[in-house]
Amino acid sequence: MNDCLFCRILAGEIPSAKVYEDEDVYAFRDINPQAPTHILVIPKEHIGSVAELREDNRDVAAKCLVAAARIAEREGLTEGYRIVSNCGPDAGQTVKHLHFHILGGNRLTDQMG
Ligand code: 5GP
Ligand code: ZN
Repeated sequence: MNDCLFCRILAGEIPSAKVYEDEDVYAFRDINPQAPTHILVIPKEHIGSVAELREDNRDVAAKCLVAAARIAEREGLTEGYRIVSNCGPDAGQTVKHLHFHILGGNRLTDQMG
């Protein structure tokens, strides 16, 4: 087993509040929510970040985004939401396993950077 936090969550070694799971994708509530609804959508395959996406793993990223759209519907985010994927140090990426934040539930800040 590697020491990746999200791989450990996938392995069940660290508990998480699951909101969605299928063959390729897992989603759970962020432990430190930045919005009323804050969910992390991750691939089951370890990919370090968006920077590691390639032709041969692009389906994984697409599946995460399709799952995110369905999760947002299920969570009742009818007024909208934001999808964020921090990539690398300048973006403040802290966990080096590709993840998409779903943020919603109130009017989000206009600031994006
Ligand atoms: P990043 O900063 O890499 O884009 O996002 C990592 C996210 O993972 C942060 O929002 C942080 O709150 C969340 N996080 C870190 N450790 C855990 C954990 O053990 N469980 C859960 N559910 N979320 C975590
Ligand atoms: Zn991982």
